[in-house]
Amino acid sequence: MPIMDMAPTLTELGERLARLRAELTRRGLAGFVTPRADAHQGEYVPPHDARLAWLTGFTGSAGTVIVLRDEAAIFVDGRYTLQVRDEVDTQLITPLPSMEISPEDWIAKNLKKDDRLGYDPWLHTPDGVARMQKACARAGAKLEPCTDNPVDAVWADQPPPPKAAIIPYPIEYAGEESSAKRARIAEAVTKTPAAATVLTMPDSIAWLLNIRGGDVTHSPLPLSFAILYADGRTELFLDPDKISDGLAAHLGDQVSLRDPGQLGPALDALGKQGRRVLLDTSTAASWISSRLEAAGAKLVAGADPCALPKARKNATEIAGMKKAHIRDGAALSNFLAWLDQAAAGGGLDEITASDKLQSFREATGCLRDLSFPTISGAGPNGAIVHYRASPKSNRLLEAGNLYLLDSGAQYLDGTTDVTRTIAIGNPSTEQCDRFTRVLKGHISLSTIRFPRGVTGAHLDVLARAALWKAGLDYDHGTGHGVGCYLGVHEGPQSISRRPNSVALEPGMIVSNEPGYYKQGAYGIRIENLVLVTEPQSIAGGERDMMGFAPLTLAPIDLRLVARALLSDEEAAWLNAYHRQVRESLTPLVDAGTKAWLASATRAI
Ligand code: ZN
Ligand code: ZN
Repeated sequence: MPIMDMAPTLTELGERLARLRAELTRRGLAGFVTPRADAHQGEYVPPHDARLAWLTGFTGSAGTVIVLRDEAAIFVDGRYTLQVRDEVDTQLITPLPSMEISPEDWIAKNLKKDDRLGYDPWLHTPDGVARMQKACARAGAKLEPCTDNPVDAVWADQPPPPKAAIIPYPIEYAGEESSAKRARIAEAVTKTPAAATVLTMPDSIAWLLNIRGGDVTHSPLPLSFAILYADGRTELFLDPDKISDGLAAHLGDQVSLRDPGQLGPALDALGKQGRRVLLDTSTAASWISSRLEAAGAKLVAGADPCALPKARKNATEIAGMKKAHIRDGAALSNFLAWLDQAAAGGGLDEITASDKLQSFREATGCLRDLSFPTISGAGPNGAIVHYRASPKSNRLLEAGNLYLLDSGAQYLDGTTDVTRTIAIGNPSTEQCDRFTRVLKGHISLSTIRFPRGVTGAHLDVLARAALWKAGLDYDHGTGHGVGCYLGVHEGPQSISRRPNSVALEPGMIVSNEPGYYKQGAYGIRIENLVLVTEPQSIAGGERDMMGFAPLTLAPIDLRLVARALLSDEEAAWLNAYHRQVRESLTPLVDAGTKAWLASATRAI
């Protein structure tokens, strides 16, 4: 993985902050809010939009900084409380955990009467702006949209916006023509009832139009906006430099390519006609809702109409995901076989190991990108949930360590995300106990049968029960949705304690990733992607039940399994899973890996 080798110095960061404050003073603003987001609220942002990192040095995937005249605070969630202290100058910017104090509470407390707090309406959602407005009102202050971003005004060498070519995603991978998708989404939009919807999530646009792009790392996203009208006609707003040969022909005459500057007038036109427009106010830019309302449109707030249909994979997508997972599992197995040798020799470090894994994936000849930065954590680094190895943090894989490896790949036919925890040398009794409890949770979720209407929130406890019994737990969700050659994290379904009203449906893909983390010692996670199966009858039963089928195929380290802690049923699941791994991967792995794979997947 590429490592940031040009991290700004603390003096530079201080100068940037000073320049922003001077700009705010010039504009008569008391402060400015900078989130990590771009105009599409995605997980990864192009360098052009990496304002939070430029201004503060913080490189995590979520966070917000609020800069006032005399103070500044950066809000991060539990994943980043350690990292933020490493990266920002805490003399200049106070790191605050967002679960203890929200940016809104801080605004209400720290703004003074009649202060004007600026924000960029492209970078916040209508829901987010409403929350900030309330907070400002509590302080007697005013929230004010900035038509041009003051951070951009003082960022002299800001990289230009990305212009990666947008390419057709062929029907052999997509499985459904865009015209058919547009017809059924348009029908859903008219039922809300609205005459059009504005799509701002690039993954929704990619799915709807069967296109892919390359504007951000790790997800083949075409950064763009679209308006889908009730008759299925669609306008796609994008930088003309992104239009590749054949794109217009692929899209057909019902999809018009428009310059980004034409988005505003198109929204005005909807407003002038007094149209109802469906908009996801939790993901759209507030700039869009404001423009629509100013022009006279009536907003229908609702979920992005592509999100749920996109999550229900069709037969072609499922077949592609299966193929991608067999290919990826073979590459990972080649790596794991190599690792057993290399680690025994000593001197192997986290970065060398993750580079080697990438080279095995590259050797498939199909790798388009990694689906996220590899988490390669030895010993105590494995306990940092979103760890990313840097030259500074890089550790050796030493005897007695657990090695946590969470990685994934983007292939044309599918996206993967897999975590394995590997014993380096001989594991301790405690490590085996904890690993086996995590495995029991993984198996419990893998084997559950459930009726229609069940959500991931109902099932989350299954992955934790064996840990809870021993007074243990983990502080992250158990599962997230995954796209097909799209984002590695997608909704709307999830498996988590957080309330989520989206029922699991056949064709959905979720991760099953319980873990256990002992601060300063080791981390454990076992992650497979699983497919929700069609409801089937159970012998002697009355109601058809759905279930999960594993997509991820890679050995689970038997050296860490305490057999006595597993029931016979759980051991049978593990043996059946390993048989499937062996039978699927043996024909594909390198000759030298075959014997290793046979042993790593032996029945216990
Ligand atoms: Zn993962
Ligand atoms: Zn995952």
